[in-house]
Amino acid sequence: MDFASQILKWYRKEKRNLPWRSTRDPYLIWLSEVILQQTRVDQGMDYYLRFSEKYPHVKMLAEASEREVLKMWQGLGYYSRARNMLFAARQILAEFNGVFPSDYEQIRKLKGVGEYTAAAIASIAYGQKVAVVDGNVKRVISRLFGLESTGNDLYKMVKQIMSEQIGFHSPGDFNQAVMEFGALYCVPKNPLCDQCIFFDHCVARKKTLVDRLPVKIPGKKPKPRYFSYLVINIREENNIVMKKRDENDIWKNLYDFPLIETNMTLSAEDLQKKPAWGACFGKEQQIRESSGLYRHQLTHRTIIAQFHFVDISAISELSLQDNWEIISLENINSLPVPRLIERFISTYYPFGV
Ligand code: SF4
Repeated sequence: MDFASQILKWYRKEKRNLPWRSTRDPYLIWLSEVILQQTRVDQGMDYYLRFSEKYPHVKMLAEASEREVLKMWQGLGYYSRARNMLFAARQILAEFNGVFPSDYEQIRKLKGVGEYTAAAIASIAYGQKVAVVDGNVKRVISRLFGLESTGNDLYKMVKQIMSEQIGFHSPGDFNQAVMEFGALYCVPKNPLCDQCIFFDHCVARKKTLVDRLPVKIPGKKPKPRYFSYLVINIREENNIVMKKRDENDIWKNLYDFPLIETNMTLSAEDLQKKPAWGACFGKEQQIRESSGLYRHQLTHRTIIAQFHFVDISAISELSLQDNWEIISLENINSLPVPRLIERFISTYYPFGV
């Protein structure tokens, strides 16, 4: 089986027409790769179009504020990608005079750029012979060659096969072809084996191992976290209190509300007995109303959140903390917020959305 030439032939005939495939600009290819990590193409497309339109050159991205970039990224999740991308754009400006590095090892030094992203950029933008390994590639190669290993062993075997197969001719197309084949034919569930160009050669199909490859290591069950949010309305000025998440935790540098985290869901009455509650206010305050429970699923955590409304007359009734910001209700949507907070705002403050 001549895997490389068959898959390249297939790719040239059946590849999807995606905007980042019509450019060799390393910056735009990098942008698309960062956006598409852990993200489906249909979900990431709009973000790619908006980012490439607003920041067509790396210099423009480097000069943007973190708040603006996080706001543009809102809803895509894994926000460290956006923070690292901005950091790397500034690195390119400072260390490479604004010119995207062309060498694999130099690309690898950019913040947030791992082996996969560096290989994708080096091969697609610069035609370098460096093989990529991502989830799609692992699935295609492990099934086609019948690899039953897991973890790092599987990664090394797939990398070796890809490195042997990739040629000097069109290495970028070869990498994209294998990924595209995994996205369109050799999909995780119900792959299109009957229409597959490798039907006669695929080891997993011949050994009826398709459903078992690649072998999965069972993941850990996500742990719950319980968030009681205080939605503090300052009646006099029609303002609301929001908090910048400046600690090293999920959603770093995004905004939510003053928060009391506990190890279980608390009633409004019990919440008001917590010392953390008293620390938020200069005088005694009561919860006016509480929302229902919101569940928000992250990779390793399940957030169970409840929003408690507190009305105060003036800022002087608050024990204002460093990372709190007073925001006019009209501007409630100007800050970058996690999806959970976006859901809450769209229900309770729809005028601002
Ligand atoms: S025959 Fe099925 S499992 Fe094998 S490579 Fe083709 S689509 Fe994937």
